[in-house]
Amino acid sequence: VRTATTHYFGAGPALLPTEVIKKAAEDLVEYQGCGLGLGEISHRSAPAVAVVNTTKSNIKQLLHVPDTHEIFFLQSGGTGEFSAVVYNLLASFAKKAGKKGKADYLVTGTWSQKAAEEAKRLGVDVNIVVNGKKASANGKYDFIPEPETWGPFGTADDTAYVYYCDNETVNGVEFSYVPIVPEGVELVADMSSNILSREVDVSKFGLIFAGVQKNIGIAGVAVVIIKKSLLDKPTDEELTALKIPLAPIVFDFPTVVKNNSLYNTLPIFNLHVVSLTTELLLKNGGLKAQELISNRKAEKLYAALDAAPSGVFNLLVEKKSRSRMNIVFTIIGEGKEQVFLNDAKAKGMTGLSGHRSVGGIRISNYNAVSEESVDLLIDWIKKFSS
Ligand code: PLP
Repeated sequence: VRTATTHYFGAGPALLPTEVIKKAAEDLVEYQGCGLGLGEISHRSAPAVAVVNTTKSNIKQLLHVPDTHEIFFLQSGGTGEFSAVVYNLLASFAKKAGKKGKADYLVTGTWSQKAAEEAKRLGVDVNIVVNGKKASANGKYDFIPEPETWGPFGTADDTAYVYYCDNETVNGVEFSYVPIVPEGVELVADMSSNILSREVDVSKFGLIFAGVQKNIGIAGVAVVIIKKSLLDKPTDEELTALKIPLAPIVFDFPTVVKNNSLYNTLPIFNLHVVSLTTELLLKNGGLKAQELISNRKAEKLYAALDAAPSGVFNLLVEKKSRSRMNIVFTIIGEGKEQVFLNDAKAKGMTGLSGHRSVGGIRISNYNAVSEESVDLLIDWIKKFSS
């Protein structure tokens, strides 16, 4: 039986508030007395359209999304957006500049690296402004190099967008600021693993996207927030003449927006989970309140790890770049990590193994991870290290 005190620290799909998941489970069986569950009704029916509109409205309120920006949803996950961003922002740039644009990428971890590789694969002239791994003394994505050390950006005349990943889930590095980019170049951010964990000035972005399955939902939906002016694009013939690949229709943002995210079948039940999570965030004081909680939980976890005697833990990420959402470290000594994980599990705490590509331990501190769970883990960290 799922209790309110599940101590799960997995990185994604991740924990959701128990009250959300229980309500969603009820609505999966029967939604609003209509005799059918939310996974069974038409995505074009009135209750389904209401789910789309409510979720949009909740996100708009939480992030204070200005009227200059549009919110929409699509299947694709985070990875689908690596590709979708390319097609759509090259098209917007072509509308403005009459030519194919280049793209700048800030590569600070596994996910931005993958996004940059995908852009190259799709034929974009990619300029890597910074590569955290190459800049690191340890040859790892363990810090975000200072902006003064970054290479040159492109200009508004030749560059469609600057791309970065706000929180690198695997490597545990997070931006504590919004990168400053050249005037007229659109800023694109992957916020899959820290969306709605803090306030964001949306007006600074051309586009923000997030797969929802870490902080605000279950897998199957991506949220996109886009500057409306970027929905203007040339005709397919003009794009083809400019050698710009046409977006597959399900990834064509103007088409998706025109159809209120319902051009094709949207997983309405999955979106409903986002609707319930965002409703709860609003009820609990919005992102100002959530940011305080997220920061407090992260600070005390890092404090416990930093307080351990030397030789116990190896915190991999430079302090200034530490993620509030994914706290990564290794445990020194043969077999010690397994002991840490096994004993944590015996105490009811799971989901603590690092990503398969890097190993070690990863504590994911998403919104639904309770203060109580964090305190229990801190007790264990203290005992283990004493
Ligand atoms: N971006 C970030 C920051 C992620 O953490 C992930 C997944 O973990 C992705 C993108 C890829 O998301 P998906 O698996 O939904 O394609």
